[in-house]
Amino acid sequence: MTKTPSRLLGKFCLAASVLVLTASSLRAQLNAYFINVGQGDAIYLEFPNGTNALIDGGPSGEPVYQFLKNKGVTKLDRVLLTHPHSDHYRGLKKVFNSLEVDKYYDTRAENVDAVGDNNLRELAAAEPGCRTLYPEPGSELKWDSNVTVKVLNSCTEKVLIHDNNENNNCSLVIRLYYNGTGILLMGDAEGSVEDAMMRIYRTGLNSTYLKVAHHGSRYSSTAKFLARVQPKIAIISYGKDNVYGHPHKEALDRLHAAGATIYTTLGGTQSLTIPAPRKGVELMVNGELDVAPVSLTETPSFNMEQRPFESADAYALQQLKAAEAK
Ligand SMILES: [Zn+2]
Repeated sequence: MTKTPSRLLGKFCLAASVLVLTASSLRAQLNAYFINVGQGDAIYLEFPNGTNALIDGGPSGEPVYQFLKNKGVTKLDRVLLTHPHSDHYRGLKKVFNSLEVDKYYDTRAENVDAVGDNNLRELAAAEPGCRTLYPEPGSELKWDSNVTVKVLNSCTEKVLIHDNNENNNCSLVIRLYYNGTGILLMGDAEGSVEDAMMRIYRTGLNSTYLKVAHHGSRYSSTAKFLARVQPKIAIISYGKDNVYGHPHKEALDRLHAAGATIYTTLGGTQSLTIPAPRKGVELMVNGELDVAPVSLTETPSFNMEQRPFESADAYALQQLKAAEAK
């Protein structure tokens, strides 16, 4: 049987529509903004599918609010709190009070030192239509069908913790992967969590971009962890003259030794772009290089971060092990 022109035309139309669909789904880029919030973290993500996410809100509401306002953002598809320390959650209160939030992601860590201050879960519950989720380590967040968003660490069972490193180690660690390029967002996780993640995740830590853990603390970013991540760009979020002496020289030295170029939020918000797949994968960082790590050799004598380097952490690591066993 010979093919009629109309059947051929039909086939052509089908092929053409597949091409158009493919082209449009590959069109968009992934943008990440590391907002200058002083001593704290706040990261705004724009996904290729047009949705967004805010990871942490910094220590006060105004910087993150102004950033979102300037971008014209009125609705957040997701807000994620890495862990209940005030330099991460306090700014989110204004976010909940001023913007529409669709989904709220949290750990089950309770900071007993933050009574009356950390009411994010209540704010999320009061937000019309907002769902609260507690993602498990090893799970994937379906935020964009073209971007893999994997949860690498969390405390998904309730733990009562103080304003300390155990709290840091409950940090939701997530890795985004798009167009062959990884972005690893460490929260304030420390060396013991890095060790555990290396054991549990045989692959999938390698990331071109690393949001350095815990504002460049010496108790994170171990040499062996950086050897696995192989970051080309390291972004450190911290505030000028902070009492912790962040970032610490030891961490900066290890990042440099690993071959990473270091950017910080000190001079302003840093941003990066992962282009659509057909546009290649050259590094696109829009911001200023941190040019003076050598000036940070002095650690203040009142540094609150002086303590032994811990090899294990009860709550966080037990939960991570439980995830491994699944
Ligand atoms: Zn912090």
